[in-house]
Amino acid sequence: MPTSPATPQGVPLVGVVALQGAAAEHVAVLRSLGAGAIEVRTPADLDGVDAVVLPGGESTTMSHLLRTSGLFDALEQRLAAGMPAFGTCAGMILLAAEVLDGRPDQRSFGAIDISVRRNAFGRQVASFEADVPTAGLDEPFHAVFIRAPWVERTGDDVEVLAIVVPSNSASGADVVPVLCRSGPILVSSFHPELTADDRIHRIFLEMVATAGT
Ligand code: GLN
Repeated sequence: MPTSPATPQGVPLVGVVALQGAAAEHVAVLRSLGAGAIEVRTPADLDGVDAVVLPGGESTTMSHLLRTSGLFDALEQRLAAGMPAFGTCAGMILLAAEVLDGRPDQRSFGAIDISVRRNAFGRQVASFEADVPTAGLDEPFHAVFIRAPWVERTGDDVEVLAIVVPSNSASGADVVPVLCRSGPILVSSFHPELTADDRIHRIFLEMVATAGT
């Protein structure tokens, strides 16, 4: 995908980590909303980027590729400095403080104080769709879940924006958070980039616009 031209002043440039998984869909939604968006594969690609998206895919593979590309350390530094980030599905796992049912060598950024369980919704319902009432949105969001993680613990500073009632309840929980926010970090269990509904990307761009102000 071609790099977008330098963004005009005031227009944020969002880097979508494109080592593996569904990056192009995020780039398309962000551009349709008027943001600049580029695919990020190397630490140098992060220069000039105001925010990042970590897409869905396979978090163990992404963790490995982030390390071999040198992006892990570069991103960790930027996140620690307060750069806004949006993680969807595998991206949520990568931003979490704690990963349950992860691989022992899998790393995460700890950018949001949540514990997530990989593949939590169980085999029979590995993939499903649901209309999810979402804080800040007038109408529910039609959410697509694909071998999705759920959130099993949230820290005090984490705002839960959406929950679902899982048909299995391995954790004993009646409801589980699937969209959370803490400061400049937004994470979803589901894939807002796979539907025509851009409202969650709008929430993120709003966060990017107000970050640091
Ligand atoms: N199950 C995947 C993982 O653990 C996430 C699935 C997804 O991103 N759609 O990384």
